[in-house]
Amino acid sequence: MSHSLLTDVTQALTTGVLRLVDLTHTLDPDFPVIILPPEFGQCARFRMEEVSAYDNRGPAWKWHNLTLNEHTGTHFDAPAHWISGRDVPNGTVDAIPVDAFVGPVVVINCSAGAATNDDFELTPDIIFDHETAHGTIPEDSWVLMRTDWSKRRGADYLNMQADGPHSPGPTPDAVRLLVEERNIRGFGTETVGTDAGQGSHYTPPYPAHFILHGAGKFGLQCLCNLDQLPPTGAVLIAAPLKIKGGTGSPLRVMALVPG
Ligand code: MN
Repeated sequence: MSHSLLTDVTQALTTGVLRLVDLTHTLDPDFPVIILPPEFGQCARFRMEEVSAYDNRGPAWKWHNLTLNEHTGTHFDAPAHWISGRDVPNGTVDAIPVDAFVGPVVVINCSAGAATNDDFELTPDIIFDHETAHGTIPEDSWVLMRTDWSKRRGADYLNMQADGPHSPGPTPDAVRLLVEERNIRGFGTETVGTDAGQGSHYTPPYPAHFILHGAGKFGLQCLCNLDQLPPTGAVLIAAPLKIKGGTGSPLRVMALVPG
């Protein structure tokens, strides 16, 4: 039974009945990282230093040393990233059971609203409307907020204004609904954080980080290609690096979708 099931899956991938969609931005020194107020420590951008390139430093091989933050580029947030999740069991990337890295994914389309409002909020009403059209969000699903924000380039991505960054995100009530009533696995966005750019002004501040991680749930940020996913029925593959005590990690995120 399990043999034929897996054979069916590999055959479906070969024949295009199933397709893999890459939800990952390229790690690139120019890709923006979150910028915090100047009194705080800052997230490093991606850097790549050549160690050798088939030359006297290594005649037959080429390789690089990398510098980056756990939260650089398309990346995973573990519960230990936030103070609310500091005591969650197995809350670091090395300790999370691997079962958590493959699972169902629901995509809530907020692209129309985000196109005209940089501070667009995902609210409980939008979630209920999504469920009316596509069914109740299954327990232990990833929920992704599609905004098409990943199509922005340069300064438009962080969208820094005089009063700080402006980008879409969920309200505290929306996060509570997803965590407390739907018991989701995690929440992902196309923006630089799981919270809105102005998320510090909510109660609690940064509600996605605070509520998700306090409940042992995960985050994904800087995703792309969410417009290629169905509202339901896809499978998300998101396995962070196994960094001892790590609070997050850049990773390759993929979705398995009907072809
Ligand atoms: Mn992060």
